[in-house]
Amino acid sequence: LQVANQIAAGEVIERPASVVKELLENSLDAGADQIEIDIEKGGIGLIRIRDNGCGIREAELPLAVSRHATNKIKELTDLEKLHSLGFRGEALASIASVSHFVIHSHFYNAENGYSLLLNTLSDEVIIEPVAHPIGTTVEVRELFYNTPARRKFLRAEKTEFGHIQEIVKRLALSRFNVSFNLRHQGKTTVSLKKTDDETSRLLRIGSLCGTEFMQTALTVSNENSAMRLSGWISPPSHARGQADQQYFFVNGRIVRDKLVNHAVRQAYSDVLYGGRHPCYVLYLDIDPSEVDVNVHPTKHEVRFVQSGWVHHLLVSSLQQTLEQTRP
Ligand code: ADP
Ligand code: MG
Repeated sequence: LQVANQIAAGEVIERPASVVKELLENSLDAGADQIEIDIEKGGIGLIRIRDNGCGIREAELPLAVSRHATNKIKELTDLEKLHSLGFRGEALASIASVSHFVIHSHFYNAENGYSLLLNTLSDEVIIEPVAHPIGTTVEVRELFYNTPARRKFLRAEKTEFGHIQEIVKRLALSRFNVSFNLRHQGKTTVSLKKTDDETSRLLRIGSLCGTEFMQTALTVSNENSAMRLSGWISPPSHARGQADQQYFFVNGRIVRDKLVNHAVRQAYSDVLYGGRHPCYVLYLDIDPSEVDVNVHPTKHEVRFVQSGWVHHLLVSSLQQTLEQTRP
C-alpha cells in the first residue's frame, strides 16, 4: 500500500510547493477563511498549515489518508458541477507516504479535537484526542526522507521557498475573502487580510503583484449570458520583457491555457511590439458544465466546451478595456 501511495506521490508531489498547494486547496475546500502557513528549510524541514475550516470527524480521519476515499465526488456527473478544488482523493495519502505526517483536527460539530499519526513503516494509524480549535492543522516533516531519488532533485531551500510563495500568491489571488499568513523560519513573508471591497482588493493585488501593476492596471469587467470576465490588465506601456505576471482563473482555479494566451495576444496585437508581455490577473466565471478541469492531476489545464465563445469574449473585453488608453 505504501509503495502504491509513493508511486502516486511521484505524480502529484514533485516538491514542497506541491504539498503546500494540495494542503491549501483542502483548507479552502473546507471553507476556511483564515490560513496560517509555517515553513522551515524551504518546506523540506517542515510544512505546517493551520486552517479554521470545518475540520475532520474522528471517524473520517483514517479515510482522509487512504487513497480515493474522498467523498467529494459520488458519481461522474458530479464532475460537471464540481466547485471544490480537490476530487481525486489521493493527495493526503501520497504526502503521508513520503513524509513524517500528522493531522490535528477539530470537527465543528464535535466536542473534541483528534490527532492522527501515521507510522509509515507499519502502515499503522494512531488516533488520539487532542486540544485544537475548530479547524485543521496538517504537519509535514522531512519530505521525501524515504525517497532519496526524489529528494536529490530538490533545489536550494531559498528556491523551494520561492515556489511555495508562488503557490500562496496564486491561491491568494483566487480567494480575496480568505486571509493568508506565510512564515519562513518564523519570519513573516506574506500577510494578507480578508478583503471585501475594491480598494482592499487592489491593495492585495499591490502586495502580491507589485505597486506598479496596482497603480497602472486597467479594470476589466464584462459579461454575457453564459460567462463573466473580470480582473486587471496592464496597459501596453507597462508591458514587460518577461511573461512572469500572467494569471488566469476559471471558476476560482488557476489555469494555463493556450486559448487564453492566444486571445490576450490578439487583443494587444496592434498596440504591443518587441517581445513585451502584458501583465494580467483575470477571472472567468462560467457554468461548470461548460469546462472540463479533469485533464491532468495537477489540474492546470482546462477544456472549454464552447472554446470559440470564450476566446471571443476574452478578445472583445480586453480590446474594449484597452480602448480606454487610446487618446
Ligand atoms: P481530495 O481533496 O481530493 O478529496 P485529499 O487527499 O486532498 O483528497 O483529502 C482527503 C479528504 O480529507 C478530503 O476529501 C477531506 O474530506 C479531508 N480533508 C483534508 N484536508 C482537510 C482540511 N484541511 N479540512 C477538512 N477536511 C480535510
Ligand atoms: Mg485535496
